[in-house]
Amino acid sequence: MVEKQVKLDIFTEKSSHFLISAKKPRKQHQCPFCSYATINKTHFRNHVLTHTGERPFLCGICSRGFTQKISLQKHLLARHGKPLQAAPHM
Ligand SMILES: [Zn+2]
Ligand SMILES: [Zn+2]
Repeated sequence: MVEKQVKLDIFTEKSSHFLISAKKPRKQHQCPFCSYATINKTHFRNHVLTHTGERPFLCGICSRGFTQKISLQKHLLARHGKPLQAAPHM
């Protein structure tokens, strides 16, 4: 019975959030290259980078460039077996 109550609460919260965001006129960032659109500026920038080919995140070990920090993190772990560090020890 307790579980049911919690699920109902989450559902109500989600619905009210949807109503609030639907009321407000949101500024969408439309990708000029495809149909992708988002209100999140960071997400939008990351997405456009995938089209322009800019790779601001460089691997300090093999100099490979990545469009997103998460991709570099994944690369470091998969290729070099170490997590991304703010100040690489060299
Ligand atoms: Zn796009
Ligand atoms: Zn690398």
